[in-house]
Amino acid sequence: MNYQVLLYYHYTKIEDPDAFSATHLAMCKEIGLKGRILVANEGINGTVSGTIEQTEQYMANMQADSLFEGIVFKIDEVDGHAFKKMHVRPRPELVNLGLEEDVNPHELTGRYLSPEQFLAEMQDENTVVLDVRNTYEYDVGHFRGAIRPDVQNFRDTPEWVRANRELFEGKNVLTYCTGGIRCEKFSGWMKREGFGDVGQLHGGVATYGKDSVAKGQLWDGQMYVFDERLTVPINQVEHVIIGRDHYDGEPCERYINCANPECNKQIIASEENEAKHLGGCTIECTKHERNRYIVRHNLTEEQVAQTIEALQA
Ligand SMILES: [Zn+2]
Repeated sequence: MNYQVLLYYHYTKIEDPDAFSATHLAMCKEIGLKGRILVANEGINGTVSGTIEQTEQYMANMQADSLFEGIVFKIDEVDGHAFKKMHVRPRPELVNLGLEEDVNPHELTGRYLSPEQFLAEMQDENTVVLDVRNTYEYDVGHFRGAIRPDVQNFRDTPEWVRANRELFEGKNVLTYCTGGIRCEKFSGWMKREGFGDVGQLHGGVATYGKDSVAKGQLWDGQMYVFDERLTVPINQVEHVIIGRDHYDGEPCERYINCANPECNKQIIASEENEAKHLGGCTIECTKHERNRYIVRHNLTEEQVAQTIEALQA
């Protein structure tokens, strides 16, 4: 455990995201970090990994910059880098909500709830908890009883909430996401839409899982993360598996990418089923000429033919 993963965001005014990104990338590379950072006029959002020294250096650099005053880093201990490369990318916005009129969290956002407050309010019978992540994130782990918007993309969630107003009206609405950045905007948007005094889990589930009082309670499954770990544990008290194997529906929480590089879909699969299907999410993906599972496992043509034959039997 000599490495750390840092998860962070900060809404702040960055005048020239292109120029900032170039300088920032050079700084990250100089330190030796790997990861993915998005930069927009409205701020920064990143996940990076490095040795303890490297990540401490990065945090010190950021904290010394007045642009990022008050920035909070969520820190996970890991065994090695959680990324292969270092990217810093300018973007039109940090969080794509697809809104006709954007929300500035400095002007409008939900009530910040500490993990302890969130745990208490979540159990009130007049509370509804809304998961504002993507469905593939929800499916491997979420707060018990949380509402799962039936959308393909986060940017479609506002439309879904409008179409399902009755679920939220007259209720104490709480939102949560991985690190808190999506809730900053989403809870603000919900307030603007008239859903009352919406609350948000401050620091996201990443913070909640480490809190000494909340201890990750009422979280079922694992939490999906956007790095090579794919999922991390949250509930320190009990572990309920809710993920289901893509192939046989058995309880499972091991995420893989479909072996077809052109598909790359994330699915939940046991090691055994992954092998049985050569990592393909469909038979077409299994048979793809550039199947990465076959390459990674050095399978012979004969082994591949036999496996596919068994699948189609
Ligand atoms: Zn596929």
